[in-house]
Amino acid sequence: METTERNTGRTQRLFEELGGTVTDGFPAIHSPVHHTEAGTPYLKRPGVVVLARPQTNVAGLKGFLKGFDPGLRFPEYIDDPTELPDSTQLCKTAGQVCYASFGPRRTTNENAAAYIERLTSAGHGSVLEHASFSFLLYGISRSVTHELVRHRAGVGFSQISQRYVSGAVLRFVERPEYQEDEELHRLFEERADRAAAGYEEMAERLLDRQEGGASMLTADHKTDARKKVQQTARSLLPNETEAPMVFTGNVRALRHIIEMRADAHAESEIRNLALRIFLCLRTLDPILFGDYELGELPDGTYTVSTRYRKA
Ligand SMILES: Cc1cc2nc3c(=O)[nH]c(=O)nc-3n(C[C@H](O)[C@H](O)[C@H](O)COP(=O)(O)OP(=O)(O)OC[C@H]3O[C@@H](n4cnc5c(N)ncnc54)[C@H](O)[C@@H]3O)c2cc1C
Repeated sequence: METTERNTGRTQRLFEELGGTVTDGFPAIHSPVHHTEAGTPYLKRPGVVVLARPQTNVAGLKGFLKGFDPGLRFPEYIDDPTELPDSTQLCKTAGQVCYASFGPRRTTNENAAAYIERLTSAGHGSVLEHASFSFLLYGISRSVTHELVRHRAGVGFSQISQRYVSGAVLRFVERPEYQEDEELHRLFEERADRAAAGYEEMAERLLDRQEGGASMLTADHKTDARKKVQQTARSLLPNETEAPMVFTGNVRALRHIIEMRADAHAESEIRNLALRIFLCLRTLDPILFGDYELGELPDGTYTVSTRYRKA
C-alpha cells in the first residue's frame, strides 16, 4: 500500500511537470508548436489527450440482482459506499459476474485494488478488456505511428491520411537527440523547410501534369484527383513528418503496449509517447494501472514497468 502511494505521488508529479492537466475529468498532456524561421511548423514531443473513457452504470444491475433469492442479499451490491474509477468498477463488476459475487462475502470496492491485483498477477486479463480509452495523439512522427500500429489485439486507429490532406497541415517532429545539439537542431530545421518546400513544389508540378491530362494523375472526381496528386507528392516526405491519430485500446491491450513501448529497450520517441499515455491513464485510474513503477534512465528519460507483465 505504501509503495502504491509513493508511486502515485511520483506519477502525479511527473504528469504535472510534463504539463499535464485534467479538464472535466479528461487528462491531457499538450505539446506546443514551434516554427522554423521560414515558418515551417514542428513539434518536439508527443501530445496526448484522453478523448473517451468508460462510464459504468452499477445501478443498472438492480433489476437483475433483485431477481435472485432475497436471502442472498444481492441488491446490496449496488449500495457499496466506496466509489471507484469507472474503468475499475467496470472490470470488477465483469469479474464478479463470473462467480455471482454480489452477496455480503464478495470483495467490496474498498478492496478493489487487491481484487485487480489478483487478476493481473494471475494473468486473468480478459476482464480488463471491457474498459477502453480513446486518445488523440499528435506531435508523433510517421516512424512512431508505424511502430504503434503493429499492435493488433484490442486496439483501433484512425490516422491522418496523407493522401487526403494537403500541405497546409504538414508539420514535422524533432527527435529529442536533435533538440539538445545546436548543429543537429539547425540541420533538422533545414530539413523540415526543404521537405515542406519540396512537397509544395512537387504538388504544383503534379497538378500541372494533371491539368495537362497525364493519364496516371487524372480522375473523374475532384477528391480522387486531389488524392492522386497528394499520394504521389507524399512519397518525398520523411519519417519526421507528423502523423496524428485517434487511438483506442482496451485496458489489457493498453497495459501490454505500455509494457512493450515504455521499456528501456523501446525506441525513445515511442517511449516518450507510451509514458504520456501511461501518465494520463494512471491519473484516471490509479487501480488498474497501480502496479506500474516509473524508472529513470541515465539520459533523464523515463521507463514504466510492472512485475505483472502481460495480464
Ligand atoms: C523493442 C522492440 C523492437 C522491435 N523490433 C522489431 C523489428 O525489428 N522488426 C519487426 O518487424 N517488429 C519489431 N517490433 C514489433 C514487434 O515484433 C511486434 O510486432 C509489436 O510489438 C506488436 O506486439 P505484439 O506482437 O505483442 O502484438 P499485439 O497486437 O500488441 O498483441 C498482443 C498479444 O496478443 C497476442 N496476439 C496478437 N495477435 C496474435 C496472433 N495473430 N496470433 C497469436 N497471438 C496473437 C500475442 O500474445 C501478443 O503479444 C519490435 C517491438 C519492440 C517493442
